[in-house]
This record gives sequence, structure tokens and C-alpha cells, in this order.
Amino acid sequence: MSVTTAIQLITRGEAGAPGAAGATGTCTPDLAQNPWAFDALPLPDYGPGASMFDTAPAATPRQGELPEEYRTASAEDLDRRIRVARDTLGESVVILGHFYQRDEVVQYADFVGDSYQLARAATERTAAEAIIFCGVHFMAETADMLSTPEQAVILPNLAAGCSMADMADIDSVSECWDQLTALLGSAPDADGRRPVIPVTYMNSSAALKGFCGENGGIVCTSSNAAAVLEWAFERGQRVLFFPDQHLGRNTAKAMGVPLEQMPLWNPRKPWGGTDEQTLRDSRVILWHGFCSVHRRFTVAQIEKARADHPGVRVIVHPECPMAVVDVADEAGSTDYIRKAIDAAAPGSTFAVGTEINMVNRLAAQYPQHTIFCLDPVICPCSTMYRIHPGYLAWVLEGLVEGRVLNRITVSDAVAEPARVALNRMLAVRP
Ligand code: SF4
Repeated sequence: MSVTTAIQLITRGEAGAPGAAGATGTCTPDLAQNPWAFDALPLPDYGPGASMFDTAPAATPRQGELPEEYRTASAEDLDRRIRVARDTLGESVVILGHFYQRDEVVQYADFVGDSYQLARAATERTAAEAIIFCGVHFMAETADMLSTPEQAVILPNLAAGCSMADMADIDSVSECWDQLTALLGSAPDADGRRPVIPVTYMNSSAALKGFCGENGGIVCTSSNAAAVLEWAFERGQRVLFFPDQHLGRNTAKAMGVPLEQMPLWNPRKPWGGTDEQTLRDSRVILWHGFCSVHRRFTVAQIEKARADHPGVRVIVHPECPMAVVDVADEAGSTDYIRKAIDAAAPGSTFAVGTEINMVNRLAAQYPQHTIFCLDPVICPCSTMYRIHPGYLAWVLEGLVEGRVLNRITVSDAVAEPARVALNRMLAVRP
């Protein structure tokens, strides 16, 4: 059963809803509504779901109203229209679906993977004039930077952002950088190491990747974060890591960096809420960002999984809080989780701490195992969830008519330094 179907059953209180009673089975019953109920509104937040209580920056893109014919079409009609448009467009279009995307959309994807795998997959389909990215905004930006100028990258719903990526904007990071440079200087030490190396997680705007490219920094993914931090420590005395504090902390801690040398930088506080001496003594300065989906996982959920399922293997994503990662059996990227399950002996039991659409899909793909989400409350990545089949049908039929809707472009001034930071990452060997 897809997450969308489960949410609809739970919120209607109907029989067949998976293991949950009434509306308490989802993080908000509003998730049962279609995204266009929210997309045209100037909301101060991201709409219903796991990230709904995060504050959306004023510059966060908003999606205009979807034409009525798509809003009122039945699921069957949308399915037929998507397939007809897809067939008409043939090799001229490629559809990418992130692991966290809803099944109703992923079923049309030519490739399914994490953000970086998908951006790379797009570069292999050189015949595709249009790349439809069923993920979130920063992913489409990365695909645009890695694809050819002739290829148009399309995000079906512009409101599909990432609340974590939006927690670090170029102005706040530049301000932090200026303060750190004023305090620590910019000249290398006797070993040639600079005072600070900026490291941005892939889940960040193109502007921040460009910032890293311009300032001797680098991009990392959740798969290569340790290797990237090693690269940075070879070149710098300390690292400024943004936007995800948890990935930074979990990775640096596993590498032996003491917690007291990892201060948190809150951009809303003077000196980031820390002090000059702590910054001088630091090894990793962590940005005050987090993923609202992965922040939901708790130690109590792991204890319950172990009590209910003796022998269960608990794997969590490194975007989870440190206490959760410490108690889990393993932590790793979406690709790590998928490979671990694929390699396990039949009959294994997994409690997984990552987004519900991916966990449910793994459970369906590996029926020889018992696989369940650590969080019993269904709550998808609510921004990615805004890519509804109605939006996919709209952009596909637009292409059939010769109109490119919702194109995501990154200017050369940003893309060139961002590619420098991305290429540094590619040169790092895990
Ligand atoms: S799961 Fe979290 S980090 Fe990933 S796209 Fe959604 S909000 Fe962003």
C-alpha cells in the first residue's frame, strides 16, 4: 500500500489503515489533501507534513495555481495522460524519481536513486532534451549544473523545496564566514592549512556550492562525508559544515573529533551563539540546520523495535540526531541502507530510520525480509510529497505542446564555482 493510500485511509478512519488508529496515524491529517490546496497560498511555512513547522524563507519559490483540468482529473485520467505524453515524447524526456518520492509518481521514473545518483543519471541520457526531476529544488539545481546547456531541467512543483537546505542561505553563511575570517584570519599556517574550509552537504542551494568552490571548499554527500572531511582537514585547521548539523556531528564524531570541538553556529545569534575562544579551539563548526523528517527518529523507537523484534537490525540515516545514531546498529546513506538490505540473509528483520516512502518500497522489494520504519507515525518528506501526478501530467503535456514549464536554471556565475566544489568531491576517494 502506498503512503498516499495509507494516509487517505487513516485520515478517513477506514479499515485497512496500516497499524494506526484514526488521525494519530499521520503527522497531520491535512496530508490527505492535494498539494494545490496549499501551493498557491503565501504560507509562512512549508504546508502540511514533517517540515510544516519550519519557517520557509521569504525567497522560497511558490507554485502558481495548477490548471483546473489537472486538479479535477481522476487518478485514472492522470495516469492515462501521463503515459500518452510520455510515449509521445519518447527519448526526448527522462523522468527522475528520488528514493523519497511517492509511489504514485515514482512509477513513471526512468531512474530512481538519491539526489547525486539521479543528477549523474541525467548526464548519461544525452538525447533527453528535458529532464523532469521528481525530487526537490536543490536536486534540480544540481542536475542543471551537471547537464548540458541544451537540456532543460524541470521541477514539476516549484514548492517542492527542502526545509533543511533552506536553513542555510548565502547571506547568512557569508556573514558567518566574514566573522570567522575576522577572528581567525585567512592566511595558511606553517603546514599550509587554511583557518577554515567550508563544506556543504549536497542538500544545499547552488549558491552555497558556489560559495564553497570560491573559498577552497567542497561538497559532500551522506555517502562520502567522512572522506570529504578528511580532505578538508588536510587543507584546513577546521571546517565550517552546513546545513545539516547531524550529518556533520555524526561523521566528525566517528572520526574521533571531540564534541567540545564541534560548536553549533546559530545564524540568528551573535557569534552564532558561541564564543571566540570556542571557535578558536574548534575543529568542526556545525550550522544550525536539520532535516525535519530524520529528526523524528528517537532512541525510544529503537528500544521498542528491539523489544518487539529480538534480533532486529536497526539502520538509520546519518541525518538522524547523534543519540539515535549512537544507539542504532548502523548508520548510512540511502544507498548504504538499500545495499545492506539487499545483501542480508533471507528472513532478516530491519528497523529503518529514514523516509517512509523509501522504507515501504524496500519492504515491497524485499518480501523475504521483515522491514519496517522506526517511526510508527506516517510522515513523508512533505516538500517532496508535493510532486503530485497532476503536476507531472501538466509539465509533460506542456512539453508535448512545445512549452517548457517550471524550468530550473542556475546562472553561470553560480554554476562555475559550484562545479569546482562538486569536482573536488568527485576527486575524493572514499
Ligand atoms: S527528507 Fe529532509 S533533507 Fe531530504 S529533501 Fe526532505 S526535508 Fe530535505
